[in-house]
Amino acid sequence: MPRFAAIYTYPWDLADEGVDAALDRIAGVAQQTEVQMATSYHISTYFLPHNPKRQIYFGEDGMVLFQPEAARYQRRRIRPRVSELVNGPHYYSALVDAIRNRGLRYGAWMVYAYNHHLARTYPDCAKQDALGNLSRAQLCVGNQETRAYFRTLTQEVLERFRPDSMFLESLSYLPFSYGFMNPKVFMEITPRDQYLLGLCFCQHCVIAASRSGMDSLQFREAVAKHLRASLPLNPTPELKVPVDQAWRDTAFDSRLAHYLATRTTTATRLYEEMTDLCHRHGTKTVDFAPDNEPVTGLNPERVIEVGDRFCLGEPEDARRWKAKWPKKEFLWSAEPPDTTPELAGRCRAALAAGADGFTFYNYGLLREENLRHIGDALKRL
Ligand SMILES: [Zn+2]
Repeated sequence: MPRFAAIYTYPWDLADEGVDAALDRIAGVAQQTEVQMATSYHISTYFLPHNPKRQIYFGEDGMVLFQPEAARYQRRRIRPRVSELVNGPHYYSALVDAIRNRGLRYGAWMVYAYNHHLARTYPDCAKQDALGNLSRAQLCVGNQETRAYFRTLTQEVLERFRPDSMFLESLSYLPFSYGFMNPKVFMEITPRDQYLLGLCFCQHCVIAASRSGMDSLQFREAVAKHLRASLPLNPTPELKVPVDQAWRDTAFDSRLAHYLATRTTTATRLYEEMTDLCHRHGTKTVDFAPDNEPVTGLNPERVIEVGDRFCLGEPEDARRWKAKWPKKEFLWSAEPPDTTPELAGRCRAALAAGADGFTFYNYGLLREENLRHIGDALKRL
């Protein structure tokens, strides 16, 4: 029985090469057991070394890679934008069928709040900082219309494509600078100011915090006042200190901590709802192991409790996670693959630490030689 090994893939890489030839490489050369195929995706510019049609691809800035059923979105504020590469109603489903027919499992790789196109098209659903700036890269997960869109999109993918797993990427609040385009940030912004600039103060987030008993409008004004005073000045060494728990607990007379608690409830509840939706369709959830609640708003305990499969950065990380959560699956994200012996050694280390398998990033971005390293390493285990 081959080890669980999932490779991330863009549908265009399968379609451009001819799906059978591409799957021969994935299953044969790279020895994979699951294809994690992008379904809803974000901006990128790609170098695709073995793609016969587009070795360089200036990608779109937020799209779905299948033809959605319009009726599902009729009552939604947000509607998906279909990729320019989707050339017919069966573009995506034909690839799913081919993956299954090849004896591989199929995972839907979903990207949620990180979407330039949607944040720009629906500014009322975008994240908004304390100064009133609307993000052009991130939707707010506290926004009811955003949440309704995510629900509808997820439901459609689950019902129509029946994935074995679903990767829930960026289903959370995101860092301040995530999605900056060609940034011109020349002068230093302190970590604490960056952190404050990353918090959403849209009306949905402000109302949620008010309901939990704080004067969130007054708090937003206090943060704005602080930023207006702080941003024009060169930070002194004392101000360059990192964001830490003690500061988060006490800043702004502990109002920051109160605001963050509401934010965690907002983001984590959505996450729980989506994992429940997946489970009702027999689909396992996949995500990075949660480790940044102050930024994402995802409570790690609750996320692990409801999720199924988590990806780890280092082979040895599995030991720590598996010790605490023995019934959950932990995969080592083996990126980028180096030589065969090195990769095999690190894969063995991951297994020794308790990892349940591997993920590899990503089929279209790797050269044939690297795909061979992966396959040869997996054969040596
Ligand atoms: Zn918000």
